[in-house]
Amino acid sequence: MSSSAAGADALVLIVAAGRGSRFGGEIPKQYRLLGGLPVLTRTLAAFAAALPEARLLVTIHPDDSELYTAAVSALPGTVAARLLPWVAGGATRQTSVRNGLESASSKSQKIVLVHDAARPFASFELISRACAAAREFGAAVPGFAVTDTIKAVDSKGVVTGTPDRASLRAVQTPQAFDYALLLSAHRSAAGLELTDDAAVAEQSGHTVHVFEGDPGNMKITSAGDLEAAERRLIADLPDVRVGQGYDVHAFEPGDHVWLGGVSIPHDRKLLGHSDADVLMHAVTDAIFGALADGDIGSHFPPSDPQWKGAASEIFLAYAADRVRARGGMIAHIDGTVVCERPKVGPHRDAIRARLAEIMKIPVERVAVKATTSERLGFTGREEGIASLAIATVRLPLGA
Ligand code: MG
Repeated sequence: MSSSAAGADALVLIVAAGRGSRFGGEIPKQYRLLGGLPVLTRTLAAFAAALPEARLLVTIHPDDSELYTAAVSALPGTVAARLLPWVAGGATRQTSVRNGLESASSKSQKIVLVHDAARPFASFELISRACAAAREFGAAVPGFAVTDTIKAVDSKGVVTGTPDRASLRAVQTPQAFDYALLLSAHRSAAGLELTDDAAVAEQSGHTVHVFEGDPGNMKITSAGDLEAAERRLIADLPDVRVGQGYDVHAFEPGDHVWLGGVSIPHDRKLLGHSDADVLMHAVTDAIFGALADGDIGSHFPPSDPQWKGAASEIFLAYAADRVRARGGMIAHIDGTVVCERPKVGPHRDAIRARLAEIMKIPVERVAVKATTSERLGFTGREEGIASLAIATVRLPLGA
């Protein structure tokens, strides 16, 4: 990939400042979870993958700074490193874009793609076409022919005209521009109320071209759209893999055990190279198993002193990142702890919540169960604790 194909000269400006008044609910639509990740996270990830050298910038409502921080914390570190500090949006979309463009004016980008945070399905091909159109035309928007007949109506719902369908295009984002052209057009359009950046460029007398859009590049506006997006996401991950994990650690003198990232008071502790979190190790190995990607020992060799006493959440977070790096999702985790003591039941929900947090998946997708072995075997004699886990992972075809 050349540096321009990788977006080294591109700024991606994601507009996420809207409050989602059409959506309802407390959380603006761009921060709602889609397949366990905020919509904004998925949108950023799509552009980061298509343009691995582009700078990324998001305009947000200042009240949403915590939601924003949570959304970007789910991105890989290599993406976060390309993310410019967030910029406060304004009362209108136009002002939000202007604020974003102004804040990046000291940077060296040649082109800018302006995109709605609520469109998480922008494809690699669409983003590539947008970059090419920005370089060729200076101002271009993705559009596609409308197949429905469009009617103009008055305030009473009476039809006042039927535009010729052949001359109409439904227009989406990313809208693509020469950066200097769009910044200057926004400066001269200040105070107007224009609905998209193409209109801003038109207002300054620029010719705006239409390039091939993508009907699959849906905008999440309603709760129904979010459900449709969930179905779409699942349909895009048809390759279902199941992995198992098993682990054992022996007791030694101590006063607590780590199980699933939760410290449980006990009259012994578990012996191990790391924190000996037997449940988390089983879950981690189950994920590696579903990916056919080695095991916890091959990724984190016990011979390596840097893992001595390590918090096992490092291992689990890494395994979950390996799933996301292949474009997949963890659909479900089912873990079992086998011991006579300590009693796990009172800690079950805390463990589920902690595991879900580390994997960045909804807690509804994490089950934790416990059983004794009826005083039989090494667990029955309280010599140690065993754990089993099954991970169900969904991947795209060919991942
Ligand atoms: Mg272990």
